[in-house]
Amino acid sequence: MNRDTCDKDGGARADAVRGDLPPLGADPGRTYRLGIMGGTFDPIHNGHLVAAEQAFDDLGLDVVVFMPAGRPAFKQDRHVSLGEHRYAMTLLATSDNPHFVASRFEVDRAGVTYTADTLRLLRDLYPDNVELYFITGADAVADIVSWRDAGTIARLATLVAATRPGYDLGRAERAIDRSPFGFDVIYLEVPALAISSSYLRARVAACQSLRYLTPDVVTGYIHKHALYGARPTRYGSLEDA
Ligand code: NAP
Repeated sequence: MNRDTCDKDGGARADAVRGDLPPLGADPGRTYRLGIMGGTFDPIHNGHLVAAEQAFDDLGLDVVVFMPAGRPAFKQDRHVSLGEHRYAMTLLATSDNPHFVASRFEVDRAGVTYTADTLRLLRDLYPDNVELYFITGADAVADIVSWRDAGTIARLATLVAATRPGYDLGRAERAIDRSPFGFDVIYLEVPALAISSSYLRARVAACQSLRYLTPDVVTGYIHKHALYGARPTRYGSLEDA
């Protein structure tokens, strides 16, 4: 008998979760916590990885799904690397952590990526005993009241706003407090978030090292694909030896 189709009772809906999303919720007697790490990840860096790990520990999450945005809603006017590249770097960066999963869920969706759509789709895919925690930067959370269908986001997920130490939370807190939607927000201070994607992009363009800022496999990928103005890798041949 095929073991993959032989899961006894309870887990039918969890097993039906599609694509690269982790199955969760099989035991109706307990609650599960699914972290969704939402970001452009252009590129992913150690700040994101540390933030997700801290959220996993502090909030007792069962798994964290890294979900690179397909076509980010507020970035129509600036160049964003192809979703395929951002997904590949995310996959490489998360591959050695057993409770991290990289997902194509948004990258494969046509059109502009709206978080409310993502959460609605996830809510339909997972049983009710799976709680959704949407983790992103505090800057993004400060703008969330203006996102499409913000009320749906408030209804479907707890927000986790990751900040660096010393970050002024005033703007985010005021926006959340004034909102009529009743957002449930957890603030998470993450020292490693002094690192940012724009800092990495600037360093690449200036031919500076990314060592200790992002996993070496990501640096390798950036150079191999000449992202952010990196010099393309020159492939040697036997004749060069
Ligand atoms: P962003 O405006 O580029 O980022 C704002 C700040 O948050 C930056 O400092 C960024 O640093 C940081 N950040 C972003 N994602 C993070 C994460 N997961 N953990 C920790 N810090 C993070 O935001 P974005 O990356 O485009 O979008 C963030 C998420 O919000 C995505 O899932 C996106 O789809 C969603 N979003 C939805 C809507 C909408 O539905 N209308 C609109 C905007 C954003 P780095 O640059 O270093 O990451």
